[in-house]
Amino acid sequence: STQETTPQICVVGSGPAGFYTAQHLLKHHTRAHVDIYEKQLVPFGLVRFGVAPDHPEVKNVINTFTQTARSDRCAFRGNVVVGRDVSVPELREAYHAVVLSYGAEDHQPLEIPGEELPGVVSARAFVGWYNGLPENQKLAPDLSCDTAVILGQGNVALDVARILLTPPEHLEKTDITEVALGVLRQSRVKTVWIVGRRGPLQVAFTIKELREMIQLPGTQPILDPSDFLGLQDRIKDVPRPRKRLTELLLRTATEKPGVEEAARRALASRAWGLRFFRSPQQVLPTPDGRRVAGIRLAVTRLEGVGESTRAVPTGDVEDLPCGLLLSSVGYKSRPIDPSVPFDPKLGIIPNTEGRVVNAPGLYCSGWVKRGPTGVITTTMTDSFLTSQVLLKDLKAGLLPSGPRPGYTAIQALLSDRGVRPVSFSDWEKLDAEEVARGQGTGKPREKLVDRREMLQLLGH
Ligand code: FAD
Repeated sequence: STQETTPQICVVGSGPAGFYTAQHLLKHHTRAHVDIYEKQLVPFGLVRFGVAPDHPEVKNVINTFTQTARSDRCAFRGNVVVGRDVSVPELREAYHAVVLSYGAEDHQPLEIPGEELPGVVSARAFVGWYNGLPENQKLAPDLSCDTAVILGQGNVALDVARILLTPPEHLEKTDITEVALGVLRQSRVKTVWIVGRRGPLQVAFTIKELREMIQLPGTQPILDPSDFLGLQDRIKDVPRPRKRLTELLLRTATEKPGVEEAARRALASRAWGLRFFRSPQQVLPTPDGRRVAGIRLAVTRLEGVGESTRAVPTGDVEDLPCGLLLSSVGYKSRPIDPSVPFDPKLGIIPNTEGRVVNAPGLYCSGWVKRGPTGVITTTMTDSFLTSQVLLKDLKAGLLPSGPRPGYTAIQALLSDRGVRPVSFSDWEKLDAEEVARGQGTGKPREKLVDRREMLQLLGH
């Protein structure tokens, strides 16, 4: 039975979900072998390509992931696009179990006219650009305008606003790419509006990110006190984290700042503001139709109570001029393979506790399991749960018995198809190179962003 053989397990995706799933499997099964497949040449998913460069402490999880990857029962197989280079049925044939942890790679479209105009950029692409994601390196965002508008009021929106408004010299010692830093140094953006359909009680960012915005050097907040009318009474009944967040918003919007803060704000050359009760209706073009010139917003009011409050249009509209429009209304998972069930509406793989429905031996964890919300620790918890369920199924004899070839079989397929995977020690070489390149300028690393160059460095 599988109890005596070595369980061969593979995980698809090397973000937090992939690594936490692998970590849990290795810790709670003394013989299990885990292969982690990753389409990029480098590991760590959104920890490398999402988390903001000025939040280095968040990236410390990489140390734990590195421990996992160095285990002799674990192998990183980068440069393999599952669904293209190897199919999920092929993986299921080669392994006792397959865990899909491939995240949410697309952005949620706005689905409004004018979305395709130059100057309209997804926050996902913008984040990928400043974080060195190879596919976004040609983005070249035009920051020659005075005003940028961000649609969406989550943590990603605040990350983007903060990167746009942070004095570039404060980013010099981060791992932001040199190219992005150069563009930010030339930026003329003075005002950033962060727009949401609903009100202050429904914002999806956390107090830590808000506090950073309020304290951002050289900037001042613009909040409309009338958006906060009657809020004081209503916050009594909301859960504590939401209450503290709303209180900070409320104080910032309505209280007169102290002398020191007033002086700081008077000197500010840049500003950011939260625009509530506005739903994007149409991207407005310049007269020649070539670029974005603004966004038409439908004014909304709220219906319903609590978290399920909906924004409904009042019939009024407002035009907000801008030269850069960033849509930050969410990430979205893609279907990976026709053989794997996918719920296009929820954008997830349908599953119960991480077991993919009607597909024994197939599991999922992370954003592709739950949808693209929640921080790294949320992803950790749900990945541990998926691993627990898998190990339970293994113990109960629900997974294929007898040995499975694991990577040996896949390696042969990949080699036939001309695909050359990279290993974790390959990553460690690239990592060392990045760190070395950062040293001259005092950066923790200068990210390699060119796949060809990276492969060359590895002698591929
Ligand atoms: P991902 O991290 O996206 O990992 C998925 C991996 O799968 C990627 O490496 C991808 O390349 C790979 N993959 C995709 N398709 C394939 C395929 N076909 N074949 C092989 N591999 C594939 N959380 C915090 O706690 N703190 C923060 O400061 C923070 N900042 C964030 C900033 C941004 C901009 C974003 C978007 C998220 C942020 N988060 C933050 C949330 C955190 O990143 C997520 O909770 C977490 O990364 C989700 O993990 P995941 O493994 O499901 O997805």
